[in-house]
Amino acid sequence: MDLKDLYQEVILDHNRNPRNYGPLADANQRAEGFNPLCGDRVTIEIKLDPAGCVECVHFAGRGCAISTASASMLTESLEGKSRAEALALIERFQEFVKEGGACAHDADDLGKLAVFAGVGEFPTRVKCAMLAWHAAKAALAGEASSVSTE
Ligand code: ZN
Repeated sequence: MDLKDLYQEVILDHNRNPRNYGPLADANQRAEGFNPLCGDRVTIEIKLDPAGCVECVHFAGRGCAISTASASMLTESLEGKSRAEALALIERFQEFVKEGGACAHDADDLGKLAVFAGVGEFPTRVKCAMLAWHAAKAALAGEASSVSTE
């Protein structure tokens, strides 16, 4: 299976069955993201444990298949990480997508997230893929409030 088939499959799967969707009752970090180009809206809620590790991440909102799949995969990717590890992963993902997956080493590192390599070719889709990650970064930084891709 090549990356393109895998991309289709992963996006469809997460779009159909979003993981960790809905409000997180005891969240202590929260941020909203908006991508005006596509109309995607996402809210990321994070529960950090007393040691500062990501105990749980949920997302809510409405958007296109790419923004929904990306948010769904983000929630799975960040869980169990320390705050620093989570921020490092967010930055690696953002670089990777921006560069269109140019760095193969990162692809190994990112696991399933590497399917987003293909969106680098489509600047408007890049914003869809990045939206949840921007919001998660803002939430982890405690900058509550909202972020926009524009
Ligand atoms: Zn979108």
